[in-house]
Amino acid sequence: MLTIDGAMGEGGGQIIRTSLALSLVTGEPVEIRNIRAGRPRPGLRRQHLTAVTAAGRLSEAEVEGAQLGSRRLRFQPGRVKPGSYRFDVGTAGSTTLVLQTVLPALLTAGGPSQLVLEGGTHNPMAPPFEFLAKTYLPLIARLGPRVEAVLERPGFYPAGGGRLRVAVTPARQLGRLELVRRGPLIARRGRVLLARLPEHIARRECSTLAAHSGWEPKCFVTELVRDSPGPGNVVMIEIESETVTEVFTAFGRKGVPAEQVAAEVWSEASRYLQAEVPVGPHLADQLMLPLAIGAHQGSGGGQYRTLELTSHSRTHLELLDWFLQVDIEVESPQRDDVCVRIGPRR
Ligand code: AMP
Repeated sequence: MLTIDGAMGEGGGQIIRTSLALSLVTGEPVEIRNIRAGRPRPGLRRQHLTAVTAAGRLSEAEVEGAQLGSRRLRFQPGRVKPGSYRFDVGTAGSTTLVLQTVLPALLTAGGPSQLVLEGGTHNPMAPPFEFLAKTYLPLIARLGPRVEAVLERPGFYPAGGGRLRVAVTPARQLGRLELVRRGPLIARRGRVLLARLPEHIARRECSTLAAHSGWEPKCFVTELVRDSPGPGNVVMIEIESETVTEVFTAFGRKGVPAEQVAAEVWSEASRYLQAEVPVGPHLADQLMLPLAIGAHQGSGGGQYRTLELTSHSRTHLELLDWFLQVDIEVESPQRDDVCVRIGPRR
């Protein structure tokens, strides 16, 4: 049994999700202590508990410590069973983070799976649906498995009530991915989602994005979301290049002017555009897992260029080293030009 200190590095929920994901993939039991010690309200929250329950059901695991607020968890997985599952976070907690936990094991499972995930689909501090569908899953397809995600109903914090449907067609093994150049720009878009809020918010966000970027008006669209249980406002910038589509996101929230929300997302996107690397900071931490699993299997791995590594990415690298037989190299000729290489252990 591996013992993981939940206080290491980032000290957040990602340590739980990645540990569970890797426990499912390798069959290695895991104990996590000091769960989310680095967060203001430590211990398991609803969204993490849903991830634990999901991983447990998928593999008929023996689980101890799966309660709200729990700071210690023991997880002993059985065999991963692909199939049809429905996981409901029960709050606005992020459905995409629950997916992050179970997807790696399903990518190479013995058969296809269909998942329905209910909760938040556009949450601060989590991949929004568009990032999943446009950025992450097309890259997973390049490794072999096919994963299709459909947004049936958006769910914004704090009301939640969203629904995601995901179909996974696995591959026997994961292949390699090389993502070292971005290639020519194909399209750039600013998209504002607005639910149950005054339309001037979206207008102000689009004009702020237009002023910062200098892009033509046709690059900006507003989508009024009519079927959301609660209010929501998300500002996204999509940069579609030859090799990858990156999606940057900022969330409207009470007390923060629309102009500031738009400026936040522009600052992330412009840093990415200037650096000329293909992989943004969130994608960088999320690509490590499938590449490392492929390398561990001996069939995959690969390399990508990204911006300066976040503490999420650094924490992820440490966890991968605990669970998997892989070699990871990080080379950084400049602050915002980092090459991550993941291969089988030599
Ligand atoms: P944690 O904060 O430990 O719960 O982990 C959050 C996870 O969500 C990490 O994998 C982040 O890369 C991911 N994430 C957070 N914000 C975004 C975003 N705007 N776009 C894509 N992924 C995100």
